This record gives sequence, C-alpha cells and structure tokens, in this order.
Amino acid sequence: VDATAGELVDALRRAGLRITAPRRAVCGVLADATEDHLTPKEILERLRERGLGSVDPSTVYRTLDTLSQVGLVHHVHLGHGAGVVHLSGGVEHQHLVCEVCGRVEDIPIDELRPMLAHLESRYGFVADGLHFALSGRCARHVE
Ligand SMILES: [Zn+2]
Ligand SMILES: [Zn+2]
Ligand SMILES: [Zn+2]
Repeated sequence: VDATAGELVDALRRAGLRITAPRRAVCGVLADATEDHLTPKEILERLRERGLGSVDPSTVYRTLDTLSQVGLVHHVHLGHGAGVVHLSGGVEHQHLVCEVCGRVEDIPIDELRPMLAHLESRYGFVADGLHFALSGRCARHVE
C-alpha cells in the first residue's frame, strides 16, 4: 500500500527536514500520482498547477532524496533520460516498459529473484535489479 501524503510528511519530519509548504506539496503530488511515474520536472509542473510555481528544483530533489533514503519512494529509469520516481508501496518491483506503446507494467521483484541469484552465483555480480527497467514489447503486440 502506498504511503499517504501525511505519512510522507511524517517521514520527512523524522528525517530531520523542516516541513515547509513546498515539501508538503511535493508529498501531495506523489501521493496523488498513484499509477504515474514522474520525473522531477513533471513534479515541478504539477506543483505549478497547484499554484506553487516558484518552488526551487533543489527543494524537490532534496525531498525526493530523503524519501528514497527511507524507502518510501523508488527511483527508476524507464528509458532514455531522466529517472522517474513513484511511491514504493512497500513492495519492491521491477518495471516492464513497452517500446511500442509505452505502457509500463510493474512486476514484483520476487519474480526476478531466480535470475538475480543466478547472476550472483555464476558471475559474482550483485545486480540491484531495480534501477533500470526492462524494455521490450508488451502482450498487446504479440502476433
Ligand atoms: Zn538513477
Ligand atoms: Zn505495448
Ligand atoms: Zn513502478
């Protein structure tokens, strides 16, 4: 289950950040995004839509960093370019990104554990398994 905006604010407070209106608003945007995976730039746009056009990007980054450190927000690269963030929902997941239609599907990381374990035992490589999405074609395009 994803954290609520209030729980995110509490986590920031526990991490020692001062709770300001912009930080509270970032928590609100994240909590409302549900299915969306947002870049920091998109978060700034949503803040602007909420009448907070003057929020400093560094405030957004700092807030996201802190929420990542406490495990409430995940950062992932779905394709080229900037990483996106979304609430972790308490379940670690990997992302399947369709190169044809752009659809993003979340799958539980547990389903990839056998492959990750294989990489470690065979190659001594400890993959984080989450930082980059898997790209390919989704079921809609199978002939
Ligand atoms: Zn990254
Ligand atoms: Zn597709
Ligand atoms: Zn996700």
